[in-house]
Formats: sequence, structure tokens, C-alpha cells
Amino acid sequence: MYYEINVAQRNKNGDYNYFFATTKRLAWDKRSVATLLKALVAAFPKPEYEISVTRWEEQGYGEDIQKLLAYLNPESGISVSNLKPGFYIFGNRGNVSSNNCHIAKSGASTLCGTPMLSFNHAKAQDIDVIGCPKCIEKYKKG
Ligand SMILES: [Zn+2]
Repeated sequence: MYYEINVAQRNKNGDYNYFFATTKRLAWDKRSVATLLKALVAAFPKPEYEISVTRWEEQGYGEDIQKLLAYLNPESGISVSNLKPGFYIFGNRGNVSSNNCHIAKSGASTLCGTPMLSFNHAKAQDIDVIGCPKCIEKYKKG
């Protein structure tokens, strides 16, 4: 979370135009924003200037360590984002939990021949790493 203080300057028509804004490093909590605000309100008085404050929230999300590491080691799996056009990931619930998702070809089946009988959990859950060794081998052979 951080605060951005926006200072607008009045022009000769009486409209306010963007003048400058503070960066996230300057105001990260109520005390730091209040300290900075007090100085800016004194330095840029009304009505020549108009000051507003925006609080920005940033959200953190846990990431799957194995998926991240797989980007560095393409031999351990193929990332969906690197698949050639016409190929996509397929995996049932078990494939997803065991990191063993398949590569499927549009209009066909999985490369290893595993039938696609279930809902595509891998696609729905946005899984990014192919794990099936047979699919990977076939895919690499072209
Ligand atoms: Zn497979």
C-alpha cells in the first residue's frame, strides 16, 4: 500500500491541470503521507493549487514454486506459454494434482494417446506446465 499525492495547478481560465504527483517511495503509511501532505499544503496553497490524495492497494499472491522453477528447466516440462499454435494443455483432476498434464492437438487427441474423457481441469485451472513424459517426447520429435 502507498499514497500518491496529486497536485494540480490552476490555469488562467480557472481550470486545474496536473502539476505533479508523488511516488510510492515517499508515502507508504498514514504518518508518512500526513507529514508530506502538511508540507505540500503549505507550499502549494489554495486556490492556486488543488491537492488530492490517492491510496493504492497492492495484492500479493502465493506462487507455485515448481511452476516457477520449470521455466528455468525446459527439460523437466514444457510451459504452455511456449507451445506451438494448435497445441494446448489437457489434464483431468488427477493429472493436475500429480503434475502430469498432457499436450493435446486441436481437432485430435493427446499426443500420448490418453483419451480426453473428462473436463479439462488443466485448462480451467490455468496450469502452465506439461508433465506427461510421453507427450513431451512426441512433441519434441515434432
Ligand atoms: Zn500425455
